Amino acid sequence: MKPRNRFQQQVVEAAKKLPALTQEQIEWSKNNVIEHIARRNDKGKITCTKCSHSWQGLGPLVDTLTDCVCPNCKAKLVVKATNKRVFRTSYYMTVITTCEGYQVVRSIMVKCTARVGKLPEYEHSEVMQRWIAPNGKYCTFAKLRQTMGTMYYDAWIYYTPLELRQENDVYNRIFTDVVYPRQKLIPELKRTGLKKTFYSQKPLELFRTLLSDSRAETLIKAGYTKLFKRIMDSGWKNIDNYWQSIRICIRNNYKIKDATLWCDYIDLLRFFGKDLYNAKYVCPNDLKVEHDRYVIKKAKADAQQEFEKQLEKESEYREAKEKFFGLVFSDGLINVRVLESVKEIILEGKLMHHCVGSYHTKTDSLILSACIDGKRIETIEVSLSQLRVIQSRGICNKNTQYHDRIINLVNQNISLIEQRLAA
Ligand SMILES: [Zn+2]
Repeated sequence: MKPRNRFQQQVVEAAKKLPALTQEQIEWSKNNVIEHIARRNDKGKITCTKCSHSWQGLGPLVDTLTDCVCPNCKAKLVVKATNKRVFRTSYYMTVITTCEGYQVVRSIMVKCTARVGKLPEYEHSEVMQRWIAPNGKYCTFAKLRQTMGTMYYDAWIYYTPLELRQENDVYNRIFTDVVYPRQKLIPELKRTGLKKTFYSQKPLELFRTLLSDSRAETLIKAGYTKLFKRIMDSGWKNIDNYWQSIRICIRNNYKIKDATLWCDYIDLLRFFGKDLYNAKYVCPNDLKVEHDRYVIKKAKADAQQEFEKQLEKESEYREAKEKFFGLVFSDGLINVRVLESVKEIILEGKLMHHCVGSYHTKTDSLILSACIDGKRIETIEVSLSQLRVIQSRGICNKNTQYHDRIINLVNQNISLIEQRLAA
């Protein structure tokens, strides 16, 4: 693709000055990027595909379950029990460097073809470069990818040129976690206090955030690296939700040990309309205790809101089930009556610790309560279309000693329900 603006033009010019990968980098990848294989054949003979040394193994379990180190070349090996003789593997290596004032993230695909009994053949191909300017602007150089007839998004076509390409989300998915240890950072990034750790972030995202938002630099310099990581993980734009409170923490020298818990806690404070500029709230002495207190408070508020939402359906319920109201029958001991409001049904569910509370919305169900001397025994659900008891439940969904008697009583009186249904 031809450069489309001045920035891209400048990067294309700068890219001409980027040195080739060094022999040292390529050698490093052979020992640190590629996972070499120990082939274990069906006779238990193990062959190191890195140096082709072979030896007799100890037994299938020992060989495959423990880390294997080649006694000859000392490479850490992954044991594969197979009679296969050729292994083709490929891995990504990331090189972090600078060129002409730009931060460059280079992605190299390293391939290894290992044949049992021969020394492996190595190939490498630089497939992608991200170029980042000191202001956070960036563009991408890449090879073309095979997109037809493959399920891989990164089937690079090696002979195509590494050149400026239109941005594509695929580029952000390329594995970048294995980084060549000798890194170079532009001064603008060094100044932010960034060390060699990337806080489990993709280098491009990390660099761009640090270069374009001074709040990222403030967090790192104040030692709030866990918080920085937490917010990066959740999407950097979420910094807006916490920044005012973070400033209070920094001013008060408040240590945030558990960043996830703290962010959660701030979200709860916001929900309850608390002052997020007030150290009394945002810097609690015991974060865990305060957090848990608000979690319970929130659960209560949610339950209350849900209750109010259900009560709004009162008239709907009355309209649907009114013709059954007042229906009562008894065998002398057990009294059964129809529950006559949403409120009553919710209360029944709460006192009996079962889920009938939501049953008022079921159009085919009639909910009745069985009591002895005013004490709740079981809750009964009758199907109006089938005119029979579907379930009868006591406290915590358990059956009581009256269970069968209650079901019989309702079934014997089902004609009363039928009459009202027909009315
Ligand atoms: Zn070896």
